[in-house]
Amino acid sequence: MRSLTFYDLIEAFDQSGCAICRLALRDVKRHLDSLLYEYSTDPQVHRAMRNGRGLCNVHSWQLTEIMGSALNTAVLFSSALLAVRETATMNGSARRTAERLAPRVVCSACQTLHQTEQFCFEVFVRSLDEPTFAATWQASDGLCLPHLRLLLPLVTADQAARLLSHQQTVWRRLQDELEAFQRSFQAEHSAEPLSQAVATSWQRCIAMLTGERSVFGLARHD
Ligand SMILES: [Zn+2]
Ligand SMILES: [Zn+2]
Repeated sequence: MRSLTFYDLIEAFDQSGCAICRLALRDVKRHLDSLLYEYSTDPQVHRAMRNGRGLCNVHSWQLTEIMGSALNTAVLFSSALLAVRETATMNGSARRTAERLAPRVVCSACQTLHQTEQFCFEVFVRSLDEPTFAATWQASDGLCLPHLRLLLPLVTADQAARLLSHQQTVWRRLQDELEAFQRSFQAEHSAEPLSQAVATSWQRCIAMLTGERSVFGLARHD
Protein backbone atom coordinates (compact mmCIF):
# COMPACT_ATOMS: atom_id res chain seq x y z
CA MET A 1 0.00 0.00 0.00
CA ARG A 2 1.73 3.15 -1.19
CA SER A 3 -1.05 5.68 -1.70
CA LEU A 4 0.87 8.67 -0.34
CA THR A 5 2.37 11.20 -2.75
CA PHE A 6 4.28 14.48 -2.67
CA TYR A 7 0.93 16.23 -3.26
CA ASP A 8 -0.64 14.64 -0.18
CA LEU A 9 2.03 16.35 1.88
CA ILE A 10 1.52 19.68 0.08
CA GLU A 11 -2.24 19.40 0.76
CA ALA A 12 -1.68 18.42 4.38
CA PHE A 13 0.39 21.61 4.88
CA ASP A 14 -2.84 23.53 4.21
CA GLN A 15 -4.58 21.94 7.18
CA SER A 16 -3.97 22.80 10.82
CA GLY A 17 -1.34 21.01 12.89
CA CYS A 18 1.53 18.67 11.98
CA ALA A 19 1.18 17.37 8.40
CA ILE A 20 3.02 14.12 9.17
CA CYS A 21 0.71 13.36 12.13
CA ARG A 22 -2.28 14.10 9.91
CA LEU A 23 -1.19 11.81 7.06
CA ALA A 24 -0.13 9.04 9.45
CA LEU A 25 -3.54 9.11 11.13
CA ARG A 26 -5.30 9.21 7.76
CA ASP A 27 -3.42 6.13 6.56
CA VAL A 28 -4.05 4.26 9.83
CA LYS A 29 -7.76 4.98 9.45
CA ARG A 30 -7.68 3.68 5.84
CA HIS A 31 -5.78 0.59 6.95
CA LEU A 32 -8.30 -0.19 9.70
CA ASP A 33 -11.18 0.33 7.24
CA SER A 34 -9.54 -2.06 4.79
CA LEU A 35 -8.94 -4.64 7.56
CA LEU A 36 -12.63 -4.54 8.38
CA TYR A 37 -14.24 -4.35 4.98
CA GLU A 38 -11.88 -5.79 2.41
CA TYR A 39 -9.73 -8.31 4.20
CA SER A 40 -11.84 -9.68 7.02
CA THR A 41 -11.84 -13.06 5.26
CA ASP A 42 -8.23 -12.81 3.97
CA PRO A 43 -6.07 -15.60 5.48
CA GLN A 44 -3.01 -13.30 5.71
CA VAL A 45 -4.93 -10.81 7.84
CA HIS A 46 -6.06 -13.63 10.11
CA ARG A 47 -2.48 -14.88 10.43
CA ALA A 48 -1.40 -11.34 11.43
CA MET A 49 -4.24 -11.16 13.97
CA ARG A 50 -3.23 -14.53 15.42
CA ASN A 51 0.47 -13.71 15.61
CA GLY A 52 -0.17 -10.19 16.90
CA ARG A 53 -2.72 -11.35 19.53
CA GLY A 54 -4.99 -8.76 17.93
CA LEU A 55 -3.74 -5.28 17.11
CA CYS A 56 -2.00 -3.06 19.70
CA ASN A 57 -4.19 -1.58 22.44
CA VAL A 58 -4.71 1.82 20.75
CA HIS A 59 -5.57 0.42 17.31
CA SER A 60 -7.76 -2.40 18.62
CA TRP A 61 -9.94 0.16 20.39
CA GLN A 62 -9.85 2.42 17.35
CA LEU A 63 -11.45 -0.43 15.35
CA THR A 64 -14.42 -0.38 17.71
CA GLU A 65 -15.00 3.31 16.99
CA ILE A 66 -15.56 2.66 13.27
CA MET A 67 -19.25 2.67 12.49
CA GLY A 68 -20.62 -0.79 11.75
CA SER A 69 -17.38 -2.55 12.73
CA ALA A 70 -18.77 -4.93 15.38
CA LEU A 71 -19.26 -8.10 13.32
CA ASN A 72 -15.96 -7.90 11.42
CA THR A 73 -14.06 -6.98 14.58
CA ALA A 74 -15.56 -10.08 16.19
CA VAL A 75 -14.39 -12.22 13.23
CA LEU A 76 -10.83 -10.81 13.39
CA PHE A 77 -10.50 -11.07 17.17
CA SER A 78 -11.93 -14.57 17.20
CA SER A 79 -8.79 -15.65 15.28
CA ALA A 80 -6.58 -13.89 17.83
CA LEU A 81 -8.36 -15.50 20.77
CA LEU A 82 -8.06 -18.96 19.24
CA ALA A 83 -4.30 -18.51 18.86
CA VAL A 84 -4.00 -17.36 22.48
CA ARG A 85 -5.97 -20.41 23.67
CA GLU A 86 -3.74 -22.75 21.67
CA THR A 87 -0.58 -21.12 23.03
CA ALA A 88 -1.62 -20.78 26.69
CA THR A 89 -0.57 -24.25 27.83
CA MET A 90 2.08 -24.90 30.46
CA ASN A 91 4.85 -26.23 28.30
CA GLY A 92 8.07 -25.47 30.19
CA SER A 93 8.41 -22.72 32.79
CA ALA A 94 5.84 -20.02 33.50
CA ARG A 95 8.30 -17.46 32.12
CA ARG A 96 8.54 -19.40 28.83
CA THR A 97 4.75 -19.53 28.64
CA ALA A 98 4.55 -15.77 29.20
CA GLU A 99 7.08 -15.27 26.39
CA ARG A 100 5.17 -17.52 24.00
CA LEU A 101 1.98 -15.54 24.68
CA ALA A 102 3.61 -12.24 23.63
CA PRO A 103 2.70 -10.77 20.21
CA ARG A 104 5.07 -12.13 17.54
CA VAL A 105 4.47 -9.37 15.00
CA VAL A 106 4.11 -5.59 15.26
CA CYS A 107 0.51 -4.35 14.96
CA SER A 108 -0.22 -3.82 11.25
CA ALA A 109 -1.76 -0.38 11.90
CA CYS A 110 1.43 0.68 13.74
CA GLN A 111 3.43 -0.58 10.74
CA THR A 112 1.26 1.51 8.42
CA LEU A 113 1.79 4.57 10.61
CA HIS A 114 5.57 4.13 10.58
CA GLN A 115 5.65 3.56 6.80
CA THR A 116 3.75 6.80 6.24
CA GLU A 117 6.11 8.67 8.55
CA GLN A 118 9.14 7.26 6.72
CA PHE A 119 7.66 8.23 3.36
CA CYS A 120 6.99 11.78 4.62
CA PHE A 121 10.59 12.09 5.82
CA GLU A 122 11.83 10.92 2.40
CA VAL A 123 9.64 13.51 0.67
CA PHE A 124 10.95 16.24 2.99
CA VAL A 125 14.56 15.30 2.33
CA ARG A 126 14.02 15.23 -1.45
CA SER A 127 11.79 18.30 -1.71
CA LEU A 128 12.89 20.90 0.84
CA ASP A 129 14.81 22.85 -1.81
CA GLU A 130 11.95 22.65 -4.29
CA PRO A 131 10.15 26.08 -4.51
CA THR A 132 6.50 24.86 -4.38
CA PHE A 133 7.26 22.58 -1.46
CA ALA A 134 9.27 25.25 0.38
CA ALA A 135 6.52 27.86 -0.09
CA THR A 136 3.71 25.62 1.20
CA TRP A 137 5.91 24.50 4.11
CA GLN A 138 6.52 28.16 5.02
CA ALA A 139 2.75 28.75 5.10
CA SER A 140 2.06 25.62 7.18
CA ASP A 141 1.71 25.04 10.93
CA GLY A 142 5.09 23.26 10.94
CA LEU A 143 5.67 19.84 12.48
CA CYS A 144 5.09 18.51 15.97
CA LEU A 145 8.25 18.33 18.07
CA PRO A 146 8.64 14.51 17.90
CA HIS A 147 8.40 14.52 14.08
CA LEU A 148 10.72 17.52 13.81
CA ARG A 149 13.27 15.71 15.98
CA LEU A 150 13.08 12.60 13.78
CA LEU A 151 13.46 14.69 10.60
CA LEU A 152 16.34 17.01 11.63
CA PRO A 153 19.15 14.42 11.51
CA LEU A 154 18.10 13.44 7.96
CA VAL A 155 18.53 16.89 6.33
CA THR A 156 21.51 19.16 5.55
CA ALA A 157 22.56 21.88 8.02
CA ASP A 158 21.15 24.52 5.69
CA GLN A 159 17.79 22.75 5.39
CA ALA A 160 17.72 22.21 9.16
CA ALA A 161 18.24 25.94 9.73
CA ARG A 162 15.28 26.72 7.45
CA LEU A 163 13.09 24.11 9.15
CA LEU A 164 13.91 25.59 12.56
CA SER A 165 13.39 29.17 11.42
CA HIS A 166 9.83 28.37 10.34
CA GLN A 167 9.18 26.36 13.51
CA GLN A 168 10.33 29.33 15.60
CA THR A 169 7.76 31.54 13.81
CA VAL A 170 5.00 28.98 14.41
CA TRP A 171 5.96 28.49 18.06
CA ARG A 172 6.15 32.26 18.73
CA ARG A 173 2.62 32.71 17.34
CA LEU A 174 1.36 29.79 19.44
CA GLN A 175 2.96 31.24 22.58
CA ASP A 176 1.21 34.58 21.94
CA GLU A 177 -2.11 32.74 21.57
CA LEU A 178 -1.49 30.76 24.77
CA GLU A 179 -0.79 33.99 26.63
CA ALA A 180 -3.98 35.58 25.26
CA PHE A 181 -5.86 32.45 26.34
CA GLN A 182 -4.51 32.73 29.89
CA ARG A 183 -5.30 36.46 30.04
CA SER A 184 -8.90 35.70 29.02
CA PHE A 185 -9.43 34.05 32.44
CA GLN A 186 -8.70 37.33 34.24
CA ALA A 187 -11.87 39.15 35.28
CA GLU A 188 -11.21 42.29 33.24
CA HIS A 189 -10.89 40.28 30.00
CA SER A 190 -13.56 37.63 30.62
CA ALA A 191 -16.25 39.27 28.47
CA GLU A 192 -14.04 39.54 25.36
CA PRO A 193 -14.79 36.91 22.69
CA LEU A 194 -11.87 34.58 21.92
CA SER A 195 -10.64 33.90 18.41
CA GLN A 196 -10.65 30.24 17.38
CA ALA A 197 -6.84 30.23 17.43
CA VAL A 198 -6.73 31.52 21.00
CA ALA A 199 -9.54 29.26 22.25
CA THR A 200 -7.83 26.11 20.92
CA SER A 201 -4.23 27.16 21.70
CA TRP A 202 -3.85 24.99 24.82
CA GLN A 203 -4.83 21.80 22.94
CA ARG A 204 -2.77 22.74 19.88
CA CYS A 205 0.23 23.25 22.16
CA ILE A 206 -0.14 19.67 23.43
CA ALA A 207 -0.32 18.46 19.81
CA MET A 208 2.71 20.57 18.82
CA LEU A 209 4.90 19.31 21.69
CA THR A 210 3.79 15.67 21.88
CA GLY A 211 2.15 14.90 18.49
CA GLU A 212 -1.51 14.26 17.73
CA ARG A 213 -3.35 11.68 19.82
CA SER A 214 -2.37 8.04 19.01
CA VAL A 215 0.69 8.90 16.90
CA PHE A 216 3.37 8.41 19.57
CA GLY A 217 3.61 6.08 22.55
CA LEU A 218 2.95 3.10 20.25
CA ALA A 219 5.15 0.07 19.60
CA ARG A 220 8.17 1.14 17.57
CA HIS A 221 10.19 -1.62 15.97
CA ASP A 222 12.16 0.32 13.35
ZN1 LIG B 1 3.62 15.08 14.01
ZN1 LIG C 1 -0.98 -0.35 16.57
